[in-house]
Amino acid sequence: MDQNKTSREILLRMVKSFTENEVAPFDMEIDHTRSYVNDLLNKIKKTDLLSTMLPKEYGGAGFDGSTTAEMINEIARGNASLAVTLEGHFKSIDQIVKFGNQALKDEYLPQAKSRIIAFSMTEPSGGSNPLGINSHAEHVGDKWIINGDKIMITNGGLAEIYCVLVKTAPEELSFFVVDKDMEGFEFGKQENFLGLTGVPVGEIVMNNIEVDENHLLGKVGMGKEIGDSAHNDARVLMGAVLTGIMEHELDIVTDYATHRKAIDTPIIQMQGIQRKVADIAIAKETTKLLYQKAAWLKDNRQDYEEEAAMAKAYGSRSAVKSGADALQILGGYGYSLDYPVEHLIRDARAMELAEGTVEKMRTEIALIEAKNRA
Ligand SMILES: Cc1cc2nc3c(=O)[nH]c(=O)nc-3n(C[C@H](O)[C@H](O)[C@H](O)COP(=O)(O)OP(=O)(O)OC[C@H]3O[C@@H](n4cnc5c(N)ncnc54)[C@H](O)[C@@H]3O)c2cc1C
Repeated sequence: MDQNKTSREILLRMVKSFTENEVAPFDMEIDHTRSYVNDLLNKIKKTDLLSTMLPKEYGGAGFDGSTTAEMINEIARGNASLAVTLEGHFKSIDQIVKFGNQALKDEYLPQAKSRIIAFSMTEPSGGSNPLGINSHAEHVGDKWIINGDKIMITNGGLAEIYCVLVKTAPEELSFFVVDKDMEGFEFGKQENFLGLTGVPVGEIVMNNIEVDENHLLGKVGMGKEIGDSAHNDARVLMGAVLTGIMEHELDIVTDYATHRKAIDTPIIQMQGIQRKVADIAIAKETTKLLYQKAAWLKDNRQDYEEEAAMAKAYGSRSAVKSGADALQILGGYGYSLDYPVEHLIRDARAMELAEGTVEKMRTEIALIEAKNRA
């Protein structure tokens, strides 16, 4: 028997049961209270879900990109915020694995089992154009001194370790890893976002944080490359989150339309309703195929940038549109804050912005298409 296949099946079965019992029942409460409830994060830590994709040599389970994406998909079907918290942590681990020097890996990767890692590029001056940032690091002797203000960080405030993009020269971008316990580190404003309300998104302020050379991620000047790599990894997982949101929408509408009657006929028998349900199903399946292809390419060490961008660009627009269709199927109940459909639309909408806006992703996709044909 294929050992990897068996352990993947066991993990996904465990995640499915965890989602059904510990996550989905609290979906509405998480949205309304804007926080994880019922000790959810401690349960995540206790069940070792923070380290499923962490390489085995650092104490993780070492699952591949495809398995990680399926796990995120399963959790998102129960609650998208929790899935995005894990997505943010996993894509940050990925960058330390890919670009960290041995000392940095030895210091931080074993901690990723219990401490969340976040990835931070955006500043008040803008997120789409990294060269517009103001945070900077100065090389003084054998140390780096970091100053700056990073905002809108997924898991900001919850995470304890941060990969931060700074300038090391006016036109040079580099990444460093800083820890919340370092002198000069402060948490700032928490965003009051429309959706994914279970995910804390916040600011960190760095005042003369002093780090050793080995806290440089990759090499000086590799900021863009590392940022692009993080976007690619995040977009695969966001495709999985968006698929989970559309699966949640389908669960709701198929149940509702089967039981809701117009006079004597269940509305699922009506063509106008059928068209909307079918459109949601088609969009869900297309997004699933896109993120699964991207994850497969990643696991097989092939380029996955375009498929990852497609999964998030197509998936985010589709999940918002599918949410609007789902709302319509539920009629007045769909418009109620007491039913989950409205928050699924708000949750999906975040992913037209986070990890690169849909405009930026379309630019990337168009340029790859042009390059492939040149
Ligand atoms: C839920 C959520 C979580 C987030 N998590 C993180 C995180 O973990 N880490 C992090 O660093 N950031 C994070 N962000 C910030 C996010 O990455 C930025 O919001 C995004 O990159 C856009 O930057 P901006 O908001 O400054 O908008 P701007 O960059 O100012 O863009 C404004 C508008 O102009 C368009 N635009 C700008 N430049 C171009 C261009 N070159 N080509 C085409 N169109 C362009 C944009 O598409 C957008 O429509 C998060 C945001 C959200 C909503």
